[in-house]
Amino acid sequence: MIKKCIICQKPFEAKGKAKCCSPACVKELRRKYSREYARKNYEVKLKKSKKGDSTLDEDIRHAREQGITYGEYKAKQYLEEMKNVHKGM
Ligand SMILES: [Zn+2]
Repeated sequence: MIKKCIICQKPFEAKGKAKCCSPACVKELRRKYSREYARKNYEVKLKKSKKGDSTLDEDIRHAREQGITYGEYKAKQYLEEMKNVHKGM
């Protein structure tokens, strides 16, 4: 089956699901894809960090800094909140 290489646009005899005419073009395709993937990931990260509220990752990091587990960190946070509630009363 003759297909057009999606990298160099040359027609080639495709075996199976091949999209490129040569190993060099396959390499180029992979490079392109991984670059796009990295860019998308970066944009997602930016969007997330713009929100400003603490993420699960941050909570885990804070917990680690204090040398406790995530569960303990959350329990501590909860206790602090409860203290503040009672203070306000
Ligand atoms: Zn090619």
